[in-house]
Amino acid sequence: MDLSFSAEDLAFQREVRAFVAENYPADIKAHFDAGLEPRKADFVRWQKILFEKGWVAPAWPQQYGGTGWTPTQRYIFQEELGAANTPGIIPFGLSMVGPVIYTFGSEEQKKRFLPGILSSDVWWCQGYSEPGSGSDLASLKTKAVRQGDKYIVNGSKTWTTMAQWADWIFCLVRTDSSVKQQEGISFLLFDMKSPGITVRPIITMDGGHEVNECFFDNVEVPAENLIGQEGQGWTYAKFLLGHERSGIAAVARSKRGIAKLKQIANAELSDGRPLIEDQDYRRKLAELEIDLTALEYTELRTLARESQGKGPGPESSILKIKGTEIQQAITELAVEAAGYYGFAFNHRAMNGSNEPVVGPAATAFAAPAYFNMRKTSIYGGSNEIQKNIIAKMVLGL
Ligand SMILES: Cc1cc2nc3c(=O)[nH]c(=O)nc-3n(C[C@H](O)[C@H](O)[C@H](O)COP(=O)(O)OP(=O)(O)OC[C@H]3O[C@@H](n4cnc5c(N)ncnc54)[C@H](O)[C@@H]3O)c2cc1C
Repeated sequence: MDLSFSAEDLAFQREVRAFVAENYPADIKAHFDAGLEPRKADFVRWQKILFEKGWVAPAWPQQYGGTGWTPTQRYIFQEELGAANTPGIIPFGLSMVGPVIYTFGSEEQKKRFLPGILSSDVWWCQGYSEPGSGSDLASLKTKAVRQGDKYIVNGSKTWTTMAQWADWIFCLVRTDSSVKQQEGISFLLFDMKSPGITVRPIITMDGGHEVNECFFDNVEVPAENLIGQEGQGWTYAKFLLGHERSGIAAVARSKRGIAKLKQIANAELSDGRPLIEDQDYRRKLAELEIDLTALEYTELRTLARESQGKGPGPESSILKIKGTEIQQAITELAVEAAGYYGFAFNHRAMNGSNEPVVGPAATAFAAPAYFNMRKTSIYGGSNEIQKNIIAKMVLGL
């Protein structure tokens, strides 16, 4: 197994790095580097820059707007974007519903929906989870009843990320309650402006507004917005989840996180000496860096398999668990570095207020980031569920 990059890959890496250096807008970079709350306009502007270059959908087949890159090139691209701290590509259109539409949608649906996804003119959200149906998604209850050429949808979804910004939702709905749970689910696309939809914010414990509840009260959805066959939604849903999990290890972002921790530990004092000289803190930081290096090599091994045409196996669950544990541990060490100031709730600073923050500026976001990162072991399939997958598929238990 060769884990080193070829001369062509290194040339590609230079090309991506140069493009990002020249085209990543300085104001968006300053906003993201400062840890301020993300804004829809920044995501859209950056995605449009990538779209103009033809790089917004590297994983798509070329005929639909993909790049034709190898898995290694796609990896390098992600690493470079992560290293530059660009806004993450919002997955709901480009990584989730896009692939479902070009794989299972009709020609009509492809023509209608794919261009808006590629150009980021249409913002999508994911309507899978419901109260009581998260890990046990197949038990979902939101109902769609066919009436002539439309469906009438009633029910609710929860944890819907960025639904407050969404133009459209892709939704799992129950169209048949008389068959096995999985066989009665269908995959519907609908306009968030349809009458009968209410979006209510869920404010998370870091004070941010990322997730929402969505209520559907007799929402009328044209039957032509059904993807594939009625009752086959579970198949499309699982296909989509395979796409959701990729990139979840977030190695580049964690590398940046550790570099920032080192900066903080050099600047902050502990018992009158730089925190970086504290043996205990140093050891924790070193352990984290070793774990991240091991994760990076596991990811490169997965890539080597993929480059040989073998699909990602259950190791994607290992990447998910370890990657999210590391992301969380980084925020824990930031809180530790902040000391008492870690108790301060600097949410106004996150909104760009010009009031001075409590404590050192470098640790102002330590506590909100710590709380926010609790989500990573829950979304995208909770870590407990990933452990079940490993137990079954790797250990044969
Ligand atoms: C920030 C955030 C954003 C999200 N965005 C979206 C979104 O945009 N769209 C969407 O549809 N969903 C979204 N989700 C929902 C997410 O997919 C669910 O939270 C997740 O699937 C877990 O479901 P649950 O919250 O209902 O927890 P539950 O399934 O109720 O689980 C509770 C706990 O029990 C554990 N558990 C459950 N079953 C088992 C088992 N069989 N064995 C061992 N342990 C088990 C779980 O791991 C967890 O720790 C988001 C969640 C978060 C936190």
